[in-house]
Amino acid sequence: MQDQLIQYLTELVHINSVNPDLSTEGQEEREIAEYVFKHFDQLGIPTKVHTIHGDRCNTTAFLKGANPEKILLMNGHLDTVGIEGMADPFNLRKDGDKLYGRGTYDMLAGCAVQMGLAAYFKDQPCPISLAFTFVADEESLSMGMEHLVEHYLPSLPAQPFLGIFMEPTEESIGISNKGYAWFEIEIEGLAAHGSRPEQGINAIFPLAAALHELELINQELAQEKPDPYLGHATLHPGLISGGTGQSVIAAMSKLNWERRILPGESQDKLDRELKRVISAVENTTGDHKVKARQTFNRPPNEIPKNDLVQKLKKAAGNTNYDGMSYWADSALASQAGIPSILFGPAGHGAHAVDEWVSLASLVNCYESMKRFILDFD
Ligand SMILES: [Zn+2]
Repeated sequence: MQDQLIQYLTELVHINSVNPDLSTEGQEEREIAEYVFKHFDQLGIPTKVHTIHGDRCNTTAFLKGANPEKILLMNGHLDTVGIEGMADPFNLRKDGDKLYGRGTYDMLAGCAVQMGLAAYFKDQPCPISLAFTFVADEESLSMGMEHLVEHYLPSLPAQPFLGIFMEPTEESIGISNKGYAWFEIEIEGLAAHGSRPEQGINAIFPLAAALHELELINQELAQEKPDPYLGHATLHPGLISGGTGQSVIAAMSKLNWERRILPGESQDKLDRELKRVISAVENTTGDHKVKARQTFNRPPNEIPKNDLVQKLKKAAGNTNYDGMSYWADSALASQAGIPSILFGPAGHGAHAVDEWVSLASLVNCYESMKRFILDFD
């Protein structure tokens, strides 16, 4: 199977699946989705390409097991981040144990594992049903996963008992990950000539109050009891803009910040933080107006270390539990009622120019998943 896994990964990497939202080099996922479709079709496993819109596509396949209504959901995202600065991103290069190429680690290796499991179980009695899923757009807005949750998962004969998302976890069982929320504050003033500030309302000075309050909140978050796997919740200002010229009293300014959310933190708590920032800005001197809101939210995810999760831990050679600081599509499956975890190979350079996945680890993940599935017999 090792050679087959390398072959699948080589072919997956070779198709440009850079998320078009992230790079002008990008290509929508239809070509790679059809490549995956062909694999399952040739194996005789019922499969389908789902068009989300244009050429943004997911692929699914369903292998019916001895217990058809006991369904394991497996998932990988087909899109990758950009390739800027990479010499040869779409040609897999093997250097000892390292397989280099864009997407090898995050997370086409996980997609290759699913393809390998399908090839194995098509000639073997499989104790449970396997829902193989490959989605678009995880690296941007998760339109692929949202489509899957809305249109594919409800069409299954039963709700999957577990979701395994094969993001790179260094073979740890990723039982939790942080969520995030985006916020925006806009300050409106009045433009005037720089020599006559008394005729205008400065919209940039009050930003200092917003930044100061955010810093205080961040310090308070760092004092709270840390999550054993994820550490502290954090926030950071990510974008700042405003003004029209150096000699003009700025009539407008805007600040956007991101809050990384721990499992168990409530929306109420986030709302209170937002109110504190608004009040801080309102209470500074000046007649400026303030508008602020949360613009986007992705939930955190955490699942208990129940028997199932322990079974996977055992199948993976008694590996560790871990929490992942990054957000992943698994949170949307959990939100839809399917407890979902992250489990994938070791490597390096997700989103970096020197991305590689460990071949030994890729094979281990495949073997671990196979053992886990066979153990339901
Ligand atoms: Zn990923």
